[in-house]
Amino acid sequence: MGLTDELKFDDVFIQPVNDDVFTQAQITVHVLRLDQLHPVVSGNKFFKLKYYLQEAAENNAVEIATFGGAFSNHIIATAYACNKLQLACTGFVRGDTPKQYSQTLLDAKALNMQLVFISREAYRNKEKIMQENVGTYFIPEGGYGNKGAKGAGDILQLVPAFENYDTAFCATGTGTMLAGLTNRCLSHQQCIGISVMKNNKGLKAEALQLLNKKKHDQMKLLHQYHFGGYARCTDELVAFMNDTYKHHQLPLDFVYTAKAFYALKDLAKNNFFNKGSKIVFIHSGGLQGNRSITDRLIY
Ligand SMILES: *Cc1c(COP(=O)(O)O)cnc(C)c1O
Repeated sequence: MGLTDELKFDDVFIQPVNDDVFTQAQITVHVLRLDQLHPVVSGNKFFKLKYYLQEAAENNAVEIATFGGAFSNHIIATAYACNKLQLACTGFVRGDTPKQYSQTLLDAKALNMQLVFISREAYRNKEKIMQENVGTYFIPEGGYGNKGAKGAGDILQLVPAFENYDTAFCATGTGTMLAGLTNRCLSHQQCIGISVMKNNKGLKAEALQLLNKKKHDQMKLLHQYHFGGYARCTDELVAFMNDTYKHHQLPLDFVYTAKAFYALKDLAKNNFFNKGSKIVFIHSGGLQGNRSITDRLIY
C-alpha cells in the first residue's frame, strides 16, 4: 500500500478569513487548509518528504534515517511514511534519552521508528553518523534540501487560481518550504516567510541556497515574530490562537502557524500590504504538536 492512499487531498480547501483587520487594510486573505491532509503527516511535511522517499525507492533502500528534536513534526511524519511504505527507519533525536517521552516520540515509536538519542555535540556532527551507517538512506533534518523544496513547491498545485494572488505567506523553520514556494511564484508574486526561531541569522542564506537565482527578489523573510524562540509559547500567543478559533474556526499550532498568522494580522494593521492585495496563507499543519498544550486551548 502506498503512502498517498490515506492522504485526503480532497479535504484540503481554501478558507476565506473575513476579519475586521483585513477589511480595514483592504486586503483579501485566504487560508490553504493543508492541515486537513492528514492528522499526523499533516501540512507541508509530506510534501517535503515525497521526493526523498521517491529517490530512496529508486535506490532500493530498505532503511531510512533522519534527524530531529523531541517535538519534531518531521520525525513523526517520517516515521509514519516509512511505516506505510514498510521501510525500517531510525530517528536520531537530539539530546539525552528523556525520562518521559514526548507525545511525538511515543507516536514515532509506536510507528516502529527506532529512536536513537544523541548528544548535542554528536548531533552537530551528522556527517559522522551518516558515514557509520552506509546503506541507509538519510533524509536531511527537517527535509531541508532541493528535493524538499521541490516537494514543497507542489503545495501550490492545491491553490485554485494561484495566479490571482500576489502574496503567499507561511511559517518558516528551515526555509525549505519558503524557498520551494518562491521558486514557483509567478513574476508578479512574492512569498513571505515568518521565522519561528529567535535570531536565526543563517536562515536567509540557507533558504537562498535552495532558491532559483531569478527569484531572489521575490522572497522575504521576517524575524520579529518568534515569541521568544522555537517552540516557545506565551499567554498572548495562546489567547490569539483561541481567539482565531472562536471567530474563524481556524485551528493553528503554537510552534509555526500561530506565529505566522499573528504576523499576518500585525502586518496588515501596520499597513504593510498594498490595498487590494490578495494573500494566500499556507496552513502548513503541525496541529499534532498542540497536544502538549491542550489544557490551554479551546479546541
Ligand atoms: C516544519 C514546519 C514548517 C516549516 O517548514 P520549513 O520548510 O522547515 O521552513 C512550517 N509549519 C509547520 C506546521 C511545520 O511542521
